[in-house]
Amino acid sequence: MLNTLRKVFGFHEFRPNQESVVRSLLKKQDVLAIMPTGGGKSLCYQLPAVLLPGTCMVISPLIALMKDQVDGARSNGIRAAFLNSSQSPDERDEVMHNLLSNSLDLLYVAPERFILSHFRETLSRVQLSMAVIDEAHCISEWGHDFRPDYLSLSDLVTLFPHTPVAAFTATATHTVQQDILDKLALRHPLIVRASFDRPNLIYDVCFKDKADAQMIALLKSNPGKAGIIYRTSRKSVSDTAAMLQAKGFRALPYHAGLSDTERKRNQEAFIRDEADVIVATIAFGMGIDKSNIRFVIHADLPKSIENYYQETGRAGRDGEPAACTLLFSQGDIPKMRFFIDAMPDDAERQRALTALSKVVAFASTSVCRRRTLLDYFGETYPPDNCNSCDICLGTRRLVDCTLQAQMVLSAIVRTEERFGAGHIADILTGSQNKKILDFGHDRLKTYGVGKHHDKKYWRQLIDELLAQKVIQKSEGLYPILFLLPKAGRILKREERIDMVRVLDKKKGQPLPIEISAPYDSQLFELLRSLRKQIADEQGIPPYVVFSDRTLHDMAANLPRTAEAMLTVSGVGEIKLERYGRQFLRLIDRYCSDHHS
Ligand code: ADP
Ligand code: ZN
Repeated sequence: MLNTLRKVFGFHEFRPNQESVVRSLLKKQDVLAIMPTGGGKSLCYQLPAVLLPGTCMVISPLIALMKDQVDGARSNGIRAAFLNSSQSPDERDEVMHNLLSNSLDLLYVAPERFILSHFRETLSRVQLSMAVIDEAHCISEWGHDFRPDYLSLSDLVTLFPHTPVAAFTATATHTVQQDILDKLALRHPLIVRASFDRPNLIYDVCFKDKADAQMIALLKSNPGKAGIIYRTSRKSVSDTAAMLQAKGFRALPYHAGLSDTERKRNQEAFIRDEADVIVATIAFGMGIDKSNIRFVIHADLPKSIENYYQETGRAGRDGEPAACTLLFSQGDIPKMRFFIDAMPDDAERQRALTALSKVVAFASTSVCRRRTLLDYFGETYPPDNCNSCDICLGTRRLVDCTLQAQMVLSAIVRTEERFGAGHIADILTGSQNKKILDFGHDRLKTYGVGKHHDKKYWRQLIDELLAQKVIQKSEGLYPILFLLPKAGRILKREERIDMVRVLDKKKGQPLPIEISAPYDSQLFELLRSLRKQIADEQGIPPYVVFSDRTLHDMAANLPRTAEAMLTVSGVGEIKLERYGRQFLRLIDRYCSDHHS
C-alpha cells in the first residue's frame, strides 16, 4: 500500500482517513467516506483500483470533469478512461474494447449510462474490482445538488452482490449523510467522517465599503494567482468582470445568462491558468477540480453557511494556503431580503430567511470564524485560537463606542429621522456638500462633532447599530434611519455599545495570503511557466502536470538528482520519467546562475 502510494502518487504519507478507506476497500468492505474538498478522496479509490484485479467503475455526475479526472489518473500511469456522450462512437468502442479485455484500472461513467440495460449487460461480463459513487450527496433530495439519475444507484448492491461499493461526498450535513446510507443500502459499511476543518484556508470578513476598490486591492496583493469572485446577480458579475478587465486584470465572467460556448471557454481559460480571476454567480463551481485556487472573494452575501463553506472550499485543494474574504455590510441585507420576499413558496422562503440570518450572524460575530463554521456542522473546534482568521489573528478588538453611538443617534433625532446613513455620516464629519447646506444641517449641534473619524468609520458604526437593533432602516429605494427603543437607553447611558474594530490592518486591506513563503518565489515562477508550457503541449490543465504544492516543494528543496526529485511530494515514478528531466534541468540552470 505504502509502496504504491509512493511510486504511483509520489506521496510519502496518507492524509487522515485515507488509509482506513483503502484498507476496507482492499478487503472488499463497503465504504461511506465524508471528507471535505481537498481531503484527497480520489486517492482513496484510485490506490485500491491499482492494486486490485479488475476495473473500478466510478460514477460521477459531471461529464465536463471526467476528462480532467482521467488525465489526472493517467498522468500517474494509471490505466483510466471514461465513457460518456461527448465521445464519438469510435472512441466509445475503443474504451469498451479495453474494458472487456481487462486493461482498465478505472472507468468513469455518468449515472445516466448506468441506467442503460446494454451497459449493465456489458458490466456483467467484466471483472469489477469495486463501484465508486463520487459526489454521493447527489442521491439525496435534501442536499443542494440532487440528481434524479442518482436514484438508480441503489441497484448497485443487488446487481453486484460481491463487489464493494464506496460512496464519497464532501457534504457536511448529517441529514444528507443518513439519506445516502438509506438509499444505497450499503452492507456493513465502514463510515468515516473527516473533520470539516480546512486548516490551510484563511477566513477574513471585511467591512464592505467600496467593493470595487477592495477587490482591486485584493487582486493586486495576489498578482498572477488564481481566484474566484462570487457575486449574486448576473449583472454584477458582468459589471465586475468588465471593471477588472478595464483595470488590466485577466478576469472573465461566468453566469447562467452567457451562452454555453462562452461559459465553457471562460471556464477552460481559468482551468488552464490563462485567466487569473473568474467572476461568477453560484452557477460556477461544481465540477471545478482546479487545485491551485489561491483566493475566493465573496463580494456579496452568500445564501447560506453551507453555500459559503462549499464556495470557499474550492480554494486551496492542494493544501497550500488560500484566503477566503467576505465583504460584508448590513446594507446588503435588504437586497437579499428582496429576493427572498419574492419567493412564492412559504416553506422555501422561511428556509431562505433562516439561512440568511445565520450568514449574517457568522459575519457579525466576534468569535473565531473557523469555530463558527465548524459549529454549524456540529463539530467542535477545541483550540482557542485558529491563527488563521481575522478574529484570531488579532486584527479586531471590541471597542466601547457608546459616545460615538450617541453622536449618531443624536444626529438622527435632530434631523427628525428623515435621512439615510450617508447623510448622517456627512453631518458628523462636517461635510460641505450641497444637500447638507440646502437643509441647513451645517447649523446643527452635531455638525462636525465626528470630524476626527472618516466617513467610513461612521458608516461602519451605523452598520453596527443596525446589527445590534439600536436603529432600523426603512424599506425602499432611499432608506432612512429611525430609532428603536434601545436607542433611548443608549442616549441615557443606561446601556453601552461595543463595536468590533479592525486594528493593524491598513484600510480595506485583506489578510495576507501567504503568511510566509519558505520557497524561492523567483524559481517558483519559472517552474510555473515550464508547467504551463508542458500542459499546453499535452492538452491538459497545468495542475494535472504538478500541483502548486509540488512546485513549492521543488522551489524550497532544489532537487538536483532523480532520487532527490522522487522525495518531492507529488512526484511518482511515472511523473519523474515524463517530466523529471525538464524540471531538473531548469532547477540546475537556476542554481548555477545563482551560484548555489
Ligand atoms: P477531493 O476530491 O477530496 O476534493 P482530491 O482527491 O482532488 O480531493 O485531492 C486534493 C489534492 O490533494 C490533490 O492535489 C491530491 O493530489 C492531493 N493529495 C491527495 N492525497 C494526498 C496525500 N496523501 N499526500 C499529499 N497530497 C495528497
Ligand atoms: Zn479563528
